[in-house]
Amino acid sequence: MQESNKNIEESLKLQSSETLHDDWDREHLWHPYTSTINPLPTYKVKEARGVRITLEDNTELIDGMSSWWCAIHGYNHPELNKAAKEQLDKMSHVMFGGFTHEPAIRLGKLILEMAPPSMHNIFYADSGSVAVEVAMKMAIQAMISKTGDHRRTNFATIRSGYHGDTWNAMSVCDPVTGMHGAFGTALPVRFFVPQPKSRFDGEWHPEDIIPLENLFKEHAEEMAAFILEPIVQGAGGMWFYHPQYLKELRKLCDKYGVYLIFDEIATGFWRTGKRFAWEHAGVEPDIMCIGKGLTGGYLTMSAVLTTKDVADTISKGEAGVLMHGPTFMANPLACSIAVRSIELLGEEPQGPKIANLERIMKEELKAAEALEGVSDVRVLGAIGVIETKEPVNVGEFQKHCVRRGVWIRPFGKNVYIMPPYIINEEDLRKLCREMIAILKEDLGI
Ligand code: PMP
Repeated sequence: MQESNKNIEESLKLQSSETLHDDWDREHLWHPYTSTINPLPTYKVKEARGVRITLEDNTELIDGMSSWWCAIHGYNHPELNKAAKEQLDKMSHVMFGGFTHEPAIRLGKLILEMAPPSMHNIFYADSGSVAVEVAMKMAIQAMISKTGDHRRTNFATIRSGYHGDTWNAMSVCDPVTGMHGAFGTALPVRFFVPQPKSRFDGEWHPEDIIPLENLFKEHAEEMAAFILEPIVQGAGGMWFYHPQYLKELRKLCDKYGVYLIFDEIATGFWRTGKRFAWEHAGVEPDIMCIGKGLTGGYLTMSAVLTTKDVADTISKGEAGVLMHGPTFMANPLACSIAVRSIELLGEEPQGPKIANLERIMKEELKAAEALEGVSDVRVLGAIGVIETKEPVNVGEFQKHCVRRGVWIRPFGKNVYIMPPYIINEEDLRKLCREMIAILKEDLGI
C-alpha cells in the first residue's frame, strides 16, 4: 500500500514536469479529435510490450484499449516481430497491379477460412475507412450493373453507427454524434433508421424492425446497400443489439434486392467472442469489411470481402472492373504479419479464452451499476462498457489513468475497455477496478 502511494506521488510529480509531454508535439502535431489551441494532454510512450505501455519516465500502464481495438496479441509480440523481419529482408512492398505474392495469397486463404462461407473475393485496402469506401463503391457498381438503374446509389444505416473518417464513411456515421455537424451539406444525405433497442442479452422486441420495414417500402428503389456494424456498434455508442435484428434485416434486403454490408472492422477477429460478429446471428452479408485486428495492430491494412455473385456482377458492368487500386494494396509486410497474427489465433481455442475475459469483466464491472452517475454496464466478449449519465472529461480521466497505471480512453458517455486478448486475470481485474475507482473516487460519479 505504502509502495503504491509512493508511486502515485512520484507519478504526480512527474506529470507536472515536461517528462511525459512534449512542447514541440503540442505546438505542431495534430492528434486525433483534439484542438490545436487547447489540446488534450498526450503522454510520451517509450515502448510497449505485452499488455504494458511504458512512458518516457518509466511509468507502466496496463493497456485497456488495444490501441483502438487492434493490438489483439499485445505489443512487441516475438512471433509478429519475426514475421515482419523475415518479410522485410525479402521485400517490404511491391505494387499489386500486375504482380502478386505469397503473403497476399496465404493471407487470402486464411481470411476465407474464417469468413462467412459465401465470401469468395477479397479486395485488400489500406485502412478501415478506405475499406468502407471500397465496400460502398462495390455495392454501387454491382447494383448499377445488376439493375441498370443509375438512381440506386444511396445507402441506409442505423443511427449511432461509426464507419470511419473518409467522406462516404462519414456520411453513414451517426448524424448527431458523428461528423455531419462539422461538414454540413457537403456530406451525401443517407437514410437513417433508429438504433435497435433490443439488447443483445435481452428480449427481442419485434417493433425494432418497423422503421426498417418502412424504410425499405419507401426507399428501396434508391438504395444500393444497407451498411451497419453487426451486433456491436463501436465508436458510435458501444451498443450491443439483438441478433434477431440482423436476421430481419437480411430478409428485407433479400426481399427488396438491396445489398447488405457488414462493417466488421471493430468486431472481427474474436473481439465479440466469435471469429466475426455475424456468427451471433448466423446471417451472412453480401459485402464485409475487416481491418484493425487483421495485422495484430502492427500495420494499417484492411480487406473487403464479397460473394462471387457481387464480384462477377461488377465485372459484367459498364466499367468491367472494380474502380479502386491503392498504392499500398496488399502490402507484403502487412500481409506477412497478418498471416502470422491469424495463425496465432488458430493456435489455441479463442472462444473459451475470450469467454474467460468476458466472465472476469462481468464480475468486476458489476460494481459500477451501483454508482449514481452510471446508466448501464454491459460486457460482450472482450469488450466491457460502463455508460455514464453525463459525458466524461477525457483529459481528466486519462490523468487519473496514468496515475493509477492503466490506459483507458473514454468517449462521450462511454467508458470502456477492450484489452489485448493476452491479458492475464490479475491485470484485467486491476484494469476494471481502476476504471471504477476513477469514476467513483476521482471523478465522484
Ligand atoms: N469501421 C468501424 C466499425 C470502426 O470502428 C473503425 C475505426 N474505429 C473504422 C471503420 C475506420 O477504421 P480506420 O480508423 O482504420 O480507418
